[in-house]
Amino acid sequence: MPLMQSDSNTLASYASNTNNSIGRSVPEKPPLYRSEYQRDRDRIIHSTAFRRLEYKTQVFVNHAGDNYRTRLTHSLEVSQIARTIAKYLKLNEELTEAICLAHDLGHTPFGHAGQDALNVCMKDYDGFEHNLQSLRIVDMLEYKYPNFRGLNLMYETREGILKHCSKSVAKTLGVLGERFLKNHQPSLEAQLANIADQIAYNHHDIDDGLRSGILSLETFNDFEWASPIIKRLKKDINNKHSRIIEYQFVNDLIGISVDELITETKSQINEHKIASTEDVRGLSFPIVGFTNEHEAIQQELKAFLMTNFYQHESIKKMSNEAEEVIHGLFNYYVKRPSSMPGYFYEEFKLKINHEKPLAMRVIADYIAGMTDRFATKVFYNDINE
Ligand code: MG
Repeated sequence: MPLMQSDSNTLASYASNTNNSIGRSVPEKPPLYRSEYQRDRDRIIHSTAFRRLEYKTQVFVNHAGDNYRTRLTHSLEVSQIARTIAKYLKLNEELTEAICLAHDLGHTPFGHAGQDALNVCMKDYDGFEHNLQSLRIVDMLEYKYPNFRGLNLMYETREGILKHCSKSVAKTLGVLGERFLKNHQPSLEAQLANIADQIAYNHHDIDDGLRSGILSLETFNDFEWASPIIKRLKKDINNKHSRIIEYQFVNDLIGISVDELITETKSQINEHKIASTEDVRGLSFPIVGFTNEHEAIQQELKAFLMTNFYQHESIKKMSNEAEEVIHGLFNYYVKRPSSMPGYFYEEFKLKINHEKPLAMRVIADYIAGMTDRFATKVFYNDINE
């Protein structure tokens, strides 16, 4: 009989590990060939919600072009960036990977426009928030194991998925909600996944923006931190193919951010004498992060993308259409709940007479789970007879 696989023995004392884990809600036998966090990662990869990320919007709707990021490739890029940093800082790479791959499972079709529209539809029933929905998917909506609902993930994976949460919702989440009420921090792996998400989208959105022609390299010359990089790349790269310079620009920016994050996080670990996961959790501020100077650059970039890319006319046009589809679908299923597939309709019937907000949540669950192309097909072909 092979021995249970443990976490890597090169973990730092402040890394999460199976021995100091709160574990799973429903106790299970340890896996034979994998660590517990590898098992979580594998359950996430095998989930239906994970496969659907392939057809969900990051910025461009799924059918806009085959070369743009989707929610799936975004999640892979987040994971890749975070794993590099986790490995270097001797954090738990497998836990980090599991959190990153699961962090966007709860996204609706059509990205943020879809989430905002569904939130409006659900305004009288506690709203809709994709981060909370990711947790709902792994805790409840995936349904394939005989002894429990959801994926029965390790506490630390669930903690990492729930990046933020209102105090009123936190009160309903038991141990998982406590840190929001006490203003405590999650594990370093969770903190890292959160920042890796920001590094990934800020930079891959520059690449998608350049690819689409909505952004141009020249606009970045206005930034003090970007113009020397562009100047150097133009000088060094003697190549007429301008996309090479654009690729290398994004490449360099990601490299700088990773470098900044590693250096500053190491210095924070030393400054606050972090030696255990308890030390990490007890603080009122995160340890993984940038210096104020580099954080300002990231925020400047974010604001730039908001004005020049996400709010660009052609992106907004897609968003307006998404809003129409989500509202149309929601109103349709409120009137015709029996048009939802078996499981959802059965749940709806159980709730509608005495718990209306929960019945409406079933409709939100069904719509949130749709891919861009499925939602579009249902809206234009099936319900608008
Ligand atoms: Mg994300």
